Amino acid sequence: MADVDVAKRVALVKATIAEACARVGRDPSEVTLVAVCKTHPPEAVVAAMRAGVTDFGENRVEEARGKIPAVEALAGSRPTWHMVGHIQRRKARDVVALFDFVHSVDRLKLAERLSRLASEAGREIPILLEINVSGEETKWGWRADHWKNTPSQRNTLWSDVEAILKLPGLRVEGLMTMAPIVDDPETARPIFVRLRELRDALATDFPEASWRHLSMGMTDDYPVAVEEGATIVRIGRAIFGPRRSE
Ligand SMILES: *Cc1c(COP(=O)(O)O)cnc(C)c1O
Repeated sequence: MADVDVAKRVALVKATIAEACARVGRDPSEVTLVAVCKTHPPEAVVAAMRAGVTDFGENRVEEARGKIPAVEALAGSRPTWHMVGHIQRRKARDVVALFDFVHSVDRLKLAERLSRLASEAGREIPILLEINVSGEETKWGWRADHWKNTPSQRNTLWSDVEAILKLPGLRVEGLMTMAPIVDDPETARPIFVRLRELRDALATDFPEASWRHLSMGMTDDYPVAVEEGATIVRIGRAIFGPRRSE
């Protein structure tokens, strides 16, 4: 896609975020746009950087390994890189080496491993905990579709959070979720509300962490996510067009 198209699409997404904020009385500066550039080349990332995007997301380590240094070489500067995809144990070291922010911490064992690697690297990595609030079997993360009235769900998450908050090298900043793919974005609204309520409950019980971020909303549903409190939206197709391959 030509650079002008990327710039126009970035402007449109930012305007749409601002409109969603206006509808609910939020300040648009509370919402960070993460442009998810999976399948798109470094040139597309640089075009988005020139259009003012500062944060980018990738969901696969293999792809990020080449693209992150290539973007830096082309642009002459490094944007903030967010890991948003499922992380296999043997890829954790690369995640620590490549990324600034990890949205997809979806199990205690992974948090422990990232903690060890971050500590070795002398880093403190901001992380989000990935939550499966829809209950779909295909989704990663702590299952919390019925956390209010299913003690086992609540107890598992609460005890893992307690353990994760003690780990060095990681700084928990909030929650992330993937809503189900649906035709009508309104269908996703209860999912976003559920994530926000869960965040509020965790913030009450674990005030030692900031819990300031809710990473939710993608191309098909981000205006609704922003209305429900998203502080980070992860947008791929609305900025870069259709994915090139997968
Ligand atoms: C691909 C991806 C996105 C962006 O999806 P779009 O529908 O293209 O906006 C967001 N989050 C994650 C985890 C992704 O893998």
